[in-house]
Amino acid sequence: DLYNQIQETKGNIRVFCRCRPLNKEEMSAGCASVVDFDAAKDGDLGILTGGSTKKTFKFDRVYTPKDDQVDVFADASPFVTSVLDGYNVCIFAYGQTGTGKTFTMEGPAKNRGVNYRTLEQLFQIAKERSGTFMYNISVSVLEVYNEQIRDLLSTSSTSKRLEIKQSAEGFHHVPGIVEAKVDNVKEVWNVLQMGSNSRAVGSNNVNEHSSRSHCMLCIMVKSKNLMTGECTKSKLWLVDLAGSERLAKTDAQGERLKEAQNINKSLSALGDVVHALATKSCHIPYRNSKLTHLLQDSLGGDSKTLMFVQISPSERDLSETLSSLNFATRVR
Ligand code: ADP
Ligand code: MG
Repeated sequence: DLYNQIQETKGNIRVFCRCRPLNKEEMSAGCASVVDFDAAKDGDLGILTGGSTKKTFKFDRVYTPKDDQVDVFADASPFVTSVLDGYNVCIFAYGQTGTGKTFTMEGPAKNRGVNYRTLEQLFQIAKERSGTFMYNISVSVLEVYNEQIRDLLSTSSTSKRLEIKQSAEGFHHVPGIVEAKVDNVKEVWNVLQMGSNSRAVGSNNVNEHSSRSHCMLCIMVKSKNLMTGECTKSKLWLVDLAGSERLAKTDAQGERLKEAQNINKSLSALGDVVHALATKSCHIPYRNSKLTHLLQDSLGGDSKTLMFVQISPSERDLSETLSSLNFATRVR
């Protein structure tokens, strides 16, 4: 499979780039596409930066607007499977607001994304292996906004302050959060819906709020080998990150400025951690943000990381696109 194929020569981090189609508004405004997909099959993405200048970026995979949710999941699925083999995994979507992070991770109900397909596959494989292994799967859904953790599955009206703790065995966890046990895909869908519904509560503009917070789905898998009695515990994080766009300095004031600073802080912390891992640095700065601290068990060590860099094809978004591609280059 894809994972093992490239495993030998590379570390545990893969970067996939996905470009959304030009939307109706961009088409009617006559926006040009700045993306060249000629070498997409080889993982190369060309960006026309003006005149006849083309900058090429290298990825493990490049998805053109023609590639669908099934194509994308086909490449992500080896990461998912490895969770059932005891690995910790982190899959996240990075990019400017409006580039398809939520489309890739969550997806519309009729064209579901990585989150749902992941759980569907976990149950499928768990069933196939049920003669040898017993699996116990539970999920938590969190949001990190302004460096504060919110439990999106909590039904309690009083929001207690949630903190990250490290257990005696070295696992990071958030005491008090809901870990919903799920036994089948139908239950999963309900839990995911519940999570996204409560994301909207308390915000007057759902899309705006979600572009400023990180939405994090954690899937915890406990397995028992029925032959040997051996037990393992592993964790899969699926993260729809806050939008990476830089707010114009003059636009940001008060609450907005604080949000922007927290987003910049956590996304650069994520970049720093992945860069430190990719360059095998001896100090990995996990503690610089709630985001990286939460993901700690699933970033580094023998865990596997997959990053989707989401981009827009539009010439209007060129500078944000270049900034996202540069972020991705730094971690690879
Ligand atoms: P983000 O979460 O990064 O802000 P969204 O996932 O909300 O972006 O996507 C913005 C819009 O673009 C949505 O209307 C979404 O349906 C559409 N879109 C994104 N990616 C694709 C794609 N690959 N194919 C078709 N439509 C897409
Ligand atoms: Mg979104």
